[in-house]
Amino acid sequence: MHTHISTEQISLALDRRLSPQEQADAREHLTGCPTCRQEWDAWHVLGNRFAQAPLIGPAPGFVQRFEKRLQQRRAARRGLLGGVVLLTGSVSLWSLIALVGLIFGVSWVSAHPAWAGSVVQFAVRLAHTLQPLTVTLRLFINGLLQIPTPVLSITLGSGLLIMAVIWAQLVNWQRGRLSALPG
Ligand SMILES: [Zn+2]
Repeated sequence: MHTHISTEQISLALDRRLSPQEQADAREHLTGCPTCRQEWDAWHVLGNRFAQAPLIGPAPGFVQRFEKRLQQRRAARRGLLGGVVLLTGSVSLWSLIALVGLIFGVSWVSAHPAWAGSVVQFAVRLAHTLQPLTVTLRLFINGLLQIPTPVLSITLGSGLLIMAVIWAQLVNWQRGRLSALPG
């Protein structure tokens, strides 16, 4: 056999994955060929070194870092949930306050008609003071009423959508800030 043994064959021989005949041929070539013998020895030494090397485990602190990352992710999720709860909570709280105020106001006005008169007067005076504003508001409402219903609903719908997107962006930003927190 005059052709040298390929590196692949040496590797297979070291792993004992050659057929008995191939193994015998390789051994025979190795005894008579210093070039292949040298390569074989080199691979053999390398193979022994790999076998003796301890198993490569995770870097020190890997588990701790992983746990920390997990905790941060959980905290971020809690923050997101907290934001949603806060929003819905504050919305319902303010509607409750407005409702209670309305009930109190109505009962107070019906109990004090004279006071109610001055309140109305005050409101009228306020309206006069803020006339440019009320005119603008009336024009705006009139304009809204003149818009065909589909256009109005589309406009309102896209407005709501934009609000939702802004809210999502805010939540996302808050979440990103939370997960970037050290410690
Ligand atoms: Zn050879």
